Amino acid sequence: MGDGNMGGSEGTHQDSSQPLITDYKLELFPPPCVPGAPTWSARASLAGDIEAVLPYLNARLEGAEYEPGAKVLIWKDQGYKYAFRCREIKAGPAQDREEAQRLVDRAVALANKIWSERERCEPRHEKRSAPNLMQIYRLLPRTNCGECGFGTCMAFAAGLREGDAEPASCPVLEQPAYGENRRKLLEMLGVGGG
Ligand code: SF4
Repeated sequence: MGDGNMGGSEGTHQDSSQPLITDYKLELFPPPCVPGAPTWSARASLAGDIEAVLPYLNARLEGAEYEPGAKVLIWKDQGYKYAFRCREIKAGPAQDREEAQRLVDRAVALANKIWSERERCEPRHEKRSAPNLMQIYRLLPRTNCGECGFGTCMAFAAGLREGDAEPASCPVLEQPAYGENRRKLLEMLGVGGG
């Protein structure tokens, strides 16, 4: 597969009916300290500036880390890490070029979707750091019942932090007695709704 190109026009995209990202160039990089290792990262160099979408990504993406000064948003999900900056998106780890292309396509589609829905969402401009493991763990039931599929509450907390688990996967947390903990957890993870 050649360099990624979504087609369309270049330049800035302020028309609300237009996707924010219409064109990019894909590059692949081996891990910097381990030449020849089988995992790669991918970088999409964007034709337009996407700074305006970063506060919306910050509002919508569970567990994201946002640094407004540096204009960078980091999001981990399903074992992958995405970094959104004004003129680029990085994603990884990828096993091959096809996977790298999929990761970047996903990140681009996500940014465009959230941009298209921005009138239904309040942007979140403030800095956000990922919660630490113990902060998450303390809000869980800590019964280690295993119903979430992670075996222990600590493993589930790690899954939540890395974006590999959803709060709704813990049925104990859905019980009324844990309503306040659940509310705090959703807020901590930046998940909308109740
Ligand atoms: S289902 Fe909930 S209480 Fe049970 S182990 Fe998972 S996180 Fe802990």
